[in-house]
Amino acid sequence: MTTSTSVRRYEHHIEGHALASGPHLIRDDPATGQPVAEFAAGSAREVDLAVAAARRAFDHGPWPRMSAGERAAVLRRFAAAVEAEVPHLAALDRSEAGKPIRYARADIRAGAAHIATAASLVETLRGDSWTDVDRDLLAYSAHEPAGVAALIIPWNFPAGILCQKLPYALALGCTVVVKPSELTSGSALEIARIAEGAGVPAGVVNVVTGLGSEVGAPLAAHPAVDVVSFTGSTASGRAVAAAAGSSLTRVGLELGGKGANIVLADADLDQAAEAAVFAAFFNSGQCCVAGPRILVQAAIANRFTEAVVARTDTLVTGDPAAERTDLGPLIHENHLAKVLGYLEAGHEAGARVLRGGDRLDGELRRGSFLAPTVLDRVTPDSPVFREEIFGPVVSLTTVADADEAVRMANATSYGLAHTVWTSDVSTALAVSRELRSGTVWVNTHLDGSTHIPFGGVKASGFGREAGREGLLEFSSLKTVQIRSARRSYGFGTR
Ligand code: NAD
Repeated sequence: MTTSTSVRRYEHHIEGHALASGPHLIRDDPATGQPVAEFAAGSAREVDLAVAAARRAFDHGPWPRMSAGERAAVLRRFAAAVEAEVPHLAALDRSEAGKPIRYARADIRAGAAHIATAASLVETLRGDSWTDVDRDLLAYSAHEPAGVAALIIPWNFPAGILCQKLPYALALGCTVVVKPSELTSGSALEIARIAEGAGVPAGVVNVVTGLGSEVGAPLAAHPAVDVVSFTGSTASGRAVAAAAGSSLTRVGLELGGKGANIVLADADLDQAAEAAVFAAFFNSGQCCVAGPRILVQAAIANRFTEAVVARTDTLVTGDPAAERTDLGPLIHENHLAKVLGYLEAGHEAGARVLRGGDRLDGELRRGSFLAPTVLDRVTPDSPVFREEIFGPVVSLTTVADADEAVRMANATSYGLAHTVWTSDVSTALAVSRELRSGTVWVNTHLDGSTHIPFGGVKASGFGREAGREGLLEFSSLKTVQIRSARRSYGFGTR
């Protein structure tokens, strides 16, 4: 197991400078239990300073006033600089989030791709025009930046989720205050530094670290913030929406999920089993678009279950710094305890543990490792089936047909992403139509591109990230109407 030798100490990043303040929160590597970083524990005071800096940069600074092409050129340098720092940034997310290193690198590369995508999208973004309303009226619409954006980020993809928001906000000319997770703030602070090195003016990207209650809540409620983009749990999302509601601030919410992975009898079973294991255990199941519920058609249930178990047996759980590792630890001890509590509840509800179920011992005891866990005989009334566990736990439930699978898939409060495996295109289309979710994958999982928008329905939130729709979350559409000849108003005239 790789242990770190030094503890990185970080301050807030406001108007291009580190702002030293008060106490720090210590972050332990979840794989070893050893401290790796200290993050400044911010408060409403630092939030005020950061929002004021972002406000100045928006109201008086050059960034919102540059042309889209000029901002895109800076963003392309930013993307290249992030790409050049993949090893460094990946090492931070690996040690703070416990992410296996090859996936940490992939996250940073995806982040760089989002920055490049935002650059190209803003260069081609167009408003509309109305030239024939009447001959003396020209009307057009233009995308203006929404203003100061608050970006609130979770721990499961620290750099990855930041880069699903930040470049789109910057591309349109917004200025931002980032509030990373208190557990994984290192890469956000480094990315702010990299952005400024690439030419983003000081004050455009500010980062305040600390707890959700002390930093996130005052940021979401701040009257000088124009738009809040939040990713995190549904419970926190409700609090953010309430805060934004009282100040009538625009808000986008990317919240929890409880994806269904529907495997029908005519599917390519080998491919479906490979993908199902990836969908369940990628990022140790700490993924909003994971596939923790396999709904398998009765005719193939035994064969498919055996295939899932066999593939689970090939996974390597352990040191996130090792290239071969598939699963790292859970984010912290409390979260591990919560996941174990769900397993207990599942057991009481009659589920059978086919693999895993226990905390890993030996050298891994120092970290919060759980063996990849496969449960079958999970019934729809069990909390394991309905609630977001956010751990390496997959449940198998047998369904009679596609209709029953759709009913069960939709039987949670969430609606983020579901997956269906079938070789029949009519079934694929019908099931995709009936599933209540922002994304449906057919014969694939966790696929896509930075150009394809992403988001949820129901308790998974609203608003979209990535692609053109992700860019528009940070746009304020203005219409301008210009009359080129005198007009009679017919008002008050005799
Ligand atoms: P969390 O809600 O605990 O925290 C997310 C962020 O919000 C953190 O920065 C936290 O400090 C802050 N926060 C907490 N309470 C707040 C409040 N009252 N006001 C403002 N900010 C507050 O979530 P987490 O545990 O960091 O992340 C895991 C959750 O995120 C899971 O539910 C997962 O499904 C969800 N998630 C969703 C997506 C998506 O795109 N839909 C992506 C990743 C994670």
